[in-house]
Amino acid sequence: MVKPIDWKDYREHLATADQEGRRLWIYPRKPRGRFTDARTYLSWLLLGIMFAGPFIRIHGNPLLLLNFVERKFVILGQIFWPQDMIISAVTMLVFLVGIVIFTTAFGRLWCGWTCPQTVLMEMVFRKIEYFIEGDAHKQRALAKAPWTANKLIKKLGKHGIFFALSFVIGNTLLAYIIGTEELFQIVTDNPLNHLSGLTFMILFTLLFYGIFARFREQACTFICPYGRLQSTLLDENTIVVAYDYKRGEKRGTLKRSVAPMQRKYDGFGDCIDCHQCVTVCPTGIDIRNGTQMECVNCTACIDACDAVMDKIKRPRGLIRFASLNGIERGERLRATPRLIGYAVVLSALIGLWLFLVFTRSDVEATMLRAPGSMFQMMPDGHLSNLYTVKVVNKTSRQIPIEFKLENVKGDLQVMGGNIVVAPQQLAENSVLIDLDPALVKGGQVKLAIGVYADGKKVETIKTGFIGPRDDTK
Ligand code: SF4
Ligand code: SF4
Repeated sequence: MVKPIDWKDYREHLATADQEGRRLWIYPRKPRGRFTDARTYLSWLLLGIMFAGPFIRIHGNPLLLLNFVERKFVILGQIFWPQDMIISAVTMLVFLVGIVIFTTAFGRLWCGWTCPQTVLMEMVFRKIEYFIEGDAHKQRALAKAPWTANKLIKKLGKHGIFFALSFVIGNTLLAYIIGTEELFQIVTDNPLNHLSGLTFMILFTLLFYGIFARFREQACTFICPYGRLQSTLLDENTIVVAYDYKRGEKRGTLKRSVAPMQRKYDGFGDCIDCHQCVTVCPTGIDIRNGTQMECVNCTACIDACDAVMDKIKRPRGLIRFASLNGIERGERLRATPRLIGYAVVLSALIGLWLFLVFTRSDVEATMLRAPGSMFQMMPDGHLSNLYTVKVVNKTSRQIPIEFKLENVKGDLQVMGGNIVVAPQQLAENSVLIDLDPALVKGGQVKLAIGVYADGKKVETIKTGFIGPRDDTK
């Protein structure tokens, strides 16, 4: 027989698993209150941005595109190529340090309010579930009820909608990766021409259906690395959703026969042990046990407890946003040396990022000797080397490109004529360089090649030219 969870032993067990490690399904009660309202309004905005994102264009480029296949990334309409590796690395660092500072100061505010997983789960899928199956007690009863036509219709209807929504979310994610034009092609063209795209479409749909229909809060507890990080980032000054144990304890049920003064005299606090904060929690925890790994700071327990405090005519905020020091000593958020240190590092990184973005050139070129190629002796006695040249145009206009040998006399020929790079595209071509053998001392010579865009020099490429070594001439 499965032993019931000993809640006093909560640090040893997950709230969503029994002693044998089997999943305990959470039926959170529908939250209501000012924080839930605020999160709902914010979620409308975020969902609008999330689904409209791939269609929003800035200077003709998407708002966000993370095309790992073509290694092309667009952030806020700005294209970043692999050649912008330093900017990408600094962007990543700014993002990571920003997360560290934010988490150190405000805990998992991101998780409860803006994370796509929570927004979609609590504000879309959960609301559909409440609409079809009713509040927690009705869901529990339906789960236990025998299979009738009514139950079948409700379950099929719910999962049908969940699957359709997962398909939309999966396609939205795909649009962020391959772009809306490519996605439109996959949807409208012969499926046989887009087998890999279709495979990802199906995989993403199944993945999201699995997460939102079954896996749910387990994704935040087990999978999300950010959730696991919080134990190393939170300290006693971090603002989190917290129970004011000084005010709440000793907890005890409210008895009509006991006057409020008598209750206080008996050592009872404001917590009436009604479990309303526990029944609304989508991760199944009791916040009165302190900050826990599973808590996503969704504030449902704040709303539930505030409603109880209103009823028993006690001040709201027994559960509230507060730090441990705030609860123990009444301190507000203060800048600790750790927070100041992080902020200094973040400011420096943002400064570096701005410098790199504003000084990055419109054109980026690389020239490497063609793989496997050696030098060639031409009929006129000159030596030639073959190169592969790649030019990225980061602007939204087409740019003609010219190359000129700058440090030696010789002939540089772009195969098939001069390169004209289309807007936001990468052009690749071959270049043949001829030099007088007298210039190639010791078997090689270093070349400086000027890259000219619209007739203006934009950069100098350094490369090597090889010939026969003197002893083999
Ligand atoms: S809702 Fe408030 S009063 Fe009720 S158990 Fe939770 S903390 Fe105590
Ligand atoms: S403890 Fe409160 S804030 Fe944390 S997940 Fe549960 S309901 Fe949300």
